[in-house]
Amino acid sequence: MYPLSANHGLKPALIERARVLVIGMGALGCPAASSLVTSLGASSQLTVIDPDQIELSNLQRQPLFDDADIGAQKAAVAVEKLAVDTVCTLTPIYARFDANNADELVARHDYVIDATDDPTTKFLINDVCVRLSVPFSYAGVVRTGGQAMAVVPGTTACLRCVFPDGPDSAEDDRGSCSNQGILAPVAGVIGALAAVHAIEHLCGAGRDRATMTIYELRGTRFRRVTFDRRHDCCACTSTATSETKNVSHAPGEPGLSNAPNESGLSTPRSCEESDASVVVGADLRSTSTCHS
Ligand SMILES: [Zn+2]
Repeated sequence: MYPLSANHGLKPALIERARVLVIGMGALGCPAASSLVTSLGASSQLTVIDPDQIELSNLQRQPLFDDADIGAQKAAVAVEKLAVDTVCTLTPIYARFDANNADELVARHDYVIDATDDPTTKFLINDVCVRLSVPFSYAGVVRTGGQAMAVVPGTTACLRCVFPDGPDSAEDDRGSCSNQGILAPVAGVIGALAAVHAIEHLCGAGRDRATMTIYELRGTRFRRVTFDRRHDCCACTSTATSETKNVSHAPGEPGLSNAPNESGLSTPRSCEESDASVVVGADLRSTSTCHS
């Protein structure tokens, strides 16, 4: 089975010149890259980085791969499949995104998509992107729910504004997808949303406030929660351009609650609430234990 159809030159590219880095080529990275790649023109570049090889257990939720690919490098196969549907330059990197290569990789790109499954890496991406002023999409998924948010350094709240305690608070198994799993279509929705954030920004239609979209499969519900920057954020304080405000809600949206929603996916708390990180720990850690 081949998931993509060739369309070389048949569709006009939305973005003629951009350099995008997708970190992680799992359940989130596959739909994110697939959704984005057809919008990139011939002068654009898409880099995908993943250290892992394809396993049988990956196939159900990683649609770029099939059984003939088992044992091959995810980044290599992803580039091969994506090339069918784009004229942009594709580059695979067979490595783990970590502190040793983070600065160099981020600095070489105009936009980053966080499609990782590890909370520490998610905050590393946040910190490096904020420091180097490279916008990025955060995405996370567990069981039947997920969430995504675009971050524009110097303009919007960053991940640490929303979850100030960072990944260190992830000390329990609540929400872990090692015991709750990921529903593949939910990862597809969230991965595609991360690509939409990239396209939105690269087309000049980016947002000036961080809005997290929280998706729950049951009832097909989307909630949008808007965050403002924290004046004491350890990542983006130095680039602060506006006063810190309390979390506000998008018009017509329900207020924030720390109670898990129907999926068991907890909602981030107000920036002013001290245990927001516990929620983030559950959400982000849940993706860390899966082969997304
Ligand atoms: Zn921040």
